[in-house]
This record gives sequence, C-alpha cells and structure tokens, in this order.
Amino acid sequence: MIFDIEQIYEEGLDFEVLEPKERFSVDSSDCVLTEDVKVQGKLERSGPDILCKGSLETGLSVTCTRCLCDFSFVVKGQLKVHFIPRVENNKPAHEIELTELDVEQEFYEEGQIDLSSPVRDLILLSLPQVILCRQDCAGLCPECGINLNENKCDCKNEGSYDPRLAVLQKLKDKLK
Ligand SMILES: [Zn+2]
Ligand SMILES: [Zn+2]
Repeated sequence: MIFDIEQIYEEGLDFEVLEPKERFSVDSSDCVLTEDVKVQGKLERSGPDILCKGSLETGLSVTCTRCLCDFSFVVKGQLKVHFIPRVENNKPAHEIELTELDVEQEFYEEGQIDLSSPVRDLILLSLPQVILCRQDCAGLCPECGINLNENKCDCKNEGSYDPRLAVLQKLKDKLK
C-alpha cells in the first residue's frame, strides 16, 4: 500500500486498492483476517504533508469472548491519516496541530507513503473489547464447560462465569 507522493498532483489522487490479507499479519488466536482489505479514498497534498481520507472494508474471523465460538465479523471503517515527512533523528519536520482527534499521524520518508500500518491499526481498533457472537450470548457453563447457547446442563449456575476457567474445566474432564 505504498504510494509515491510524486503521483499526487494538485487535484489529489483517488485510489482504490484490494490488498491481500497476508500483508497485514492480523493473525492471533482470537482474530484472523479472512478477507482481502478493500481501501478507497483520496490522497491530497498540504504543503509537505499528505492527507489521506478514505474508507476500508474487510472481514475477520473472531472468537466470542463468552462462548469461544468463532464467527465472522465485517469491518468497515473510516481512514484518516496525516502523513508528515520524517527528518533526521526521527523528529517530525514540523509540529502539526491536530484539529480532529480521530486523525492518525504517520511519518513518511523517501517520497513514499505507506498506508499498511494505519490500515492495520484501524482494523484492530475496530474490534470491540468484548466480542460477542450475539448480544445475548449465554456463554459457557462455568461448571461443565458446555455451550449454553446450544445446550442446557444441570449445573447450578451462580454469579458470573469465566470462559477461560470453563475451558480449563473442559480439559480436566477430558483427562479424566
Ligand atoms: Zn458467544
Ligand atoms: Zn454445566
């Protein structure tokens, strides 16, 4: 997702790219990128700076925090990045005033800007802290580890449950 800033003329540069999912290394135990990442937007110059505004769409496979099932999650987000030239000793060439809080700030060097890391950040930030397969996900039984969305059990379910403990319990039961 690299653009030469020389390609960005006075009137800006419209772009639309479909970037292979492998490029983003979003691949953890509870979140895997399953679709290529579609990004479209516009690059504009502002003095030495480059402004990028656009939108992003892709798909993830994520794990429900409560019941640990995997399900697909569509990511749609607005991308706003302010690229400033990097000079020596990693300091920005000038101070910028951020007027909008949701604008990400990045450096660029050698006349090229790279959207990969802001795009990756946006994908990860779009995930809620608690990911639920559905709002009323019943989770796993803390006693026997059964998925309460699909089955009922005879355990006394009191108070809150911790799916990690339930998983441990499941493992213990397997070892018996
Ligand atoms: Zn769930
Ligand atoms: Zn149970």
